[in-house]
Amino acid sequence: MEKDAKTRFFWSRERDFTFKTCLRQYFFRYYAGLSPQTGGPRDKEIAILHRLNHRQDWANEQVQRIIRAVLESGNPPPAADILVQELLTAMRADFRDSRNGLYRQAGNASKGLFEHEYQLKVPDHIWKENADRAEDAVRRFLESETLKWILALPPEARLESPKGVEFILDGLPVRVRPGFAFRRDDRIELVHWRMESPLQLDDIESAGRVLYAASKWNVSLEKIQLVDVELSTGEEHRHAVDEDALNFAKEYIHDSADEMQFPLDDPETNTAAEDNFDTTEDDAPCRRCPYLKVCPKWT
Ligand code: SF4
Repeated sequence: MEKDAKTRFFWSRERDFTFKTCLRQYFFRYYAGLSPQTGGPRDKEIAILHRLNHRQDWANEQVQRIIRAVLESGNPPPAADILVQELLTAMRADFRDSRNGLYRQAGNASKGLFEHEYQLKVPDHIWKENADRAEDAVRRFLESETLKWILALPPEARLESPKGVEFILDGLPVRVRPGFAFRRDDRIELVHWRMESPLQLDDIESAGRVLYAASKWNVSLEKIQLVDVELSTGEEHRHAVDEDALNFAKEYIHDSADEMQFPLDDPETNTAAEDNFDTTEDDAPCRRCPYLKVCPKWT
């Protein structure tokens, strides 16, 4: 029988980062609180903590939602002020719901803010800056040269816009976020809009996107172009991944997956015991860890 997507093993760059940051956080994120209906109180608590977002990630999610709606509509975008109004209205509603603890109510699957859950004292001007950054990103997206060339493409050039996809790399399920895919001239272009500033491109993540595109559209490497757009400036960064970098990434991904499977009770069934995943000795990651209140290092 096909295993539930939540409990099947897969590799992703995000999973790799979490594994390297703290083994216990990795356990909480990928092996705990996955069946809160049948689990005990701690499972239910962890399931709630899974849905916490830091304010910067939340702003990014809201911006990505607007970008997705524009690109998927296939129509010319509405005026910037209309989209910004929509963004800010949604952010205000999310903020209010999170502050009121809606994400903790039974049957409510909404997300909450880490800052509210842990009662961090965040001054109003910091929240305002977060919203301003999101507003600037939406305006920059609408003004960008990248959006202009995308809108000029014929509808059949738009290939797909998945949030995340899974593909098989030499037998290993791998999840990537390839970006919006377009056919442009004789190339496949994968476009990511990014709020990180300054932009730091990750070679392994880039290789994962290329590996996915090569397997999906059966095209050679030189026909795949990655386009990362910095939303703080509107600048478009074009880059490709060569054969050597791709081979390095393949080896890295398989080694990383092997390391992740080492502490499991049973790699076949992807089952794990909490005690096999140590807490980190470094306190820095704990300050941003959503699982802090259930972590034995602090309780
Ligand atoms: S609170 Fe710290 S030690 Fe505990 S899971 Fe989170 S990062 Fe790891």
